[in-house]
Amino acid sequence: MTGLVLQDISKRFGASTVVEQVQLAVPAGSFVCLLGPSGCGKTTLLRMIAGLETPSQGLILLDGQDITALPTHQRELGMVFQSLALFPHLSVGENIAYPLRIRGRPRAEQARRTEELLNLVHLPGYGDRPVAQLSGGQRQRVAIARALALSPRLFLLDEPLSALDAKLREAMQLELRQLQQRLGITTVVVTHDQREAMTMADLVVVMGEGRVRQAAPPIEIYRHPADAFVADFIGSTNLLELERDAQGRASAFGCALPGVPAPAAGRATLSIRPEDLQLTVPGDGALSGRVSFVRDLGATIETFIEVGGKVLVAVTTPRARAQVQPGDAVGVVLPPENCVVLAS
Ligand code: ATP
Repeated sequence: MTGLVLQDISKRFGASTVVEQVQLAVPAGSFVCLLGPSGCGKTTLLRMIAGLETPSQGLILLDGQDITALPTHQRELGMVFQSLALFPHLSVGENIAYPLRIRGRPRAEQARRTEELLNLVHLPGYGDRPVAQLSGGQRQRVAIARALALSPRLFLLDEPLSALDAKLREAMQLELRQLQQRLGITTVVVTHDQREAMTMADLVVVMGEGRVRQAAPPIEIYRHPADAFVADFIGSTNLLELERDAQGRASAFGCALPGVPAPAAGRATLSIRPEDLQLTVPGDGALSGRVSFVRDLGATIETFIEVGGKVLVAVTTPRARAQVQPGDAVGVVLPPENCVVLAS
């Protein structure tokens, strides 16, 4: 297959296994985000793809070629790290042309390619500027342009946008995604930000404790999380303990949940997204609760409801504004079609 394939990749440092039996197929031209909490092994996995760490076990294939033992400089990669590592004493153009210069490419080619890349990252005319005079977003674009100078086969980025403020970061996410789509370059990005992953990726790989917990398109992960860890990590969700009652029905907090599949045996976890939880008059929903807090964020309203000692969150649009107040008794509706039953 063309693209990147990881076959049974593990990495041990001494006695601890930080990446464990990762299997992954990244089709050529697609954008993959490795997503997970701090310490789950994302960076180690990316560094093995880059050739900066050697796997303890497994194979890495790029367009069908086994590159597991190939040195980094022979892998034809473009890399951008959080630190960017731009040369502060060089101009924007000199930074971008650097990979071409050290490979001895003719001056005319260096100049032509630098112009091309400056246009590509929306910095035309910036070639002679000192890097020190650029904004955070502009530096980011220079680092991306430099990484693409040699037209790599694979583009690797480790938390590339984490130093930027929230607004600029969102703009750069769209820009990076559009650039990748124009170039059709196979791209792997490490992030711990699920919103960033949802914005950019064709394929999100959720990692936990060194293992791939789920690898799927973003919306599939959001709608059909494989387990409670993934459900909780991707967006926010309400996780309820689900039981099978004496009549064989699914129940939570001792209340039957008609339409929700009962767990086969013992217990399971029910995940329902805040935007799917509905509030109604007391006594009318499947569950009864009391409003403990209302957070009005303008575009949306978050209502926190205490049910049987647990707090559930419902997100509604401003049309529902001022309908409930802290202290109000409410009914809580769990539409069965929005309930995802997870093994626990
Ligand atoms: P973060 O988001 O915090 O960067 P991460 O998911 O990228 O986390 P890694 O940097 O891959 O995680 O680290 C995974 C685990 O491996 C951590 O527990 C880390 O301490 C350990 N680790 C990483 N590199 C080494 C090393 N060279 N020697 C020993 N342990 C290491």
